Amino acid sequence: MVSVKRFILDEPALFSATEKFVQSFSKVPDPVIAVASRASSPEAKIAWTLLGTDLFQDRTCYGVEKVLEALFEAFPDEKLWTLPVPTATRINEVIEKVLDGEHWSLFEHVAGIFWSVGFFVRRHPDLVAWVEGRLPEEIWRDLGEIYFMGKSKPRIKANAAIYRLVAPAPAGLGMSCRKGGPLPPLPLTMGARRFLAILGPAKDEGFSGLEPAEKQKLVNNYCTALCPGNPCLAAHALQFFLEDGKEDFICRERTCRCSKCALYEYCDYAEHKGDGVC
Ligand code: SF4
Repeated sequence: MVSVKRFILDEPALFSATEKFVQSFSKVPDPVIAVASRASSPEAKIAWTLLGTDLFQDRTCYGVEKVLEALFEAFPDEKLWTLPVPTATRINEVIEKVLDGEHWSLFEHVAGIFWSVGFFVRRHPDLVAWVEGRLPEEIWRDLGEIYFMGKSKPRIKANAAIYRLVAPAPAGLGMSCRKGGPLPPLPLTMGARRFLAILGPAKDEGFSGLEPAEKQKLVNNYCTALCPGNPCLAAHALQFFLEDGKEDFICRERTCRCSKCALYEYCDYAEHKGDGVC
């Protein structure tokens, strides 16, 4: 098993640069929260956070944000759960416009997910009380009622939903759930996987060959080392590492094409022609 402690001792400068990267990218809005935050009531923010998290599959951060944004504009706020719900044809029209011919494995399930989140909200009409009155484990269990949120462990979408509810903005909604019991494993996003494999503790021994439990333990330990008070912020920041954005990697788009990135001298993907002009 890769040792996080050993890696930090062996690579102090890289670890320090990563801390700076995390500090900087922890301020970048989460793609789901960016849309959900536009909702006008706390209930709608929670509902749209659950929907966006459930749709976050086989799409990039940017791709998920575009899909969720289009749905929000077509069926804003409480239209997510108000009866009568939109037809599958109408929902699919909205999604098809965003996809513009691009394949998305989840496409045929989007209407079902939309209706299921709406049904969940109608079953839990006071969503704020639902979050505040439950332990993380109870929230995790309840989320199993939503189509495609996962039924058995590991339920990575349910875990991610909990962090989006409780993490401070702009990583999450900054809510509080009932204290007690552990928080779930941190989200192991594609960006975090890339980071651990390329510039993180698994860069020499390899990441892909690790068992799923070892991968999860590695991201938990490394994010805790990077951000001891709030490891979910480290997990949030790492999701943007080499993640496709609108025209380039999100990290490049936000660092004047790498020139202002703390990882510039360590990253093989750095744009060496950058002149610092954004
Ligand atoms: S690609 Fe550029 S912005 Fe992204 S991590 Fe590498 S150096 Fe930083």
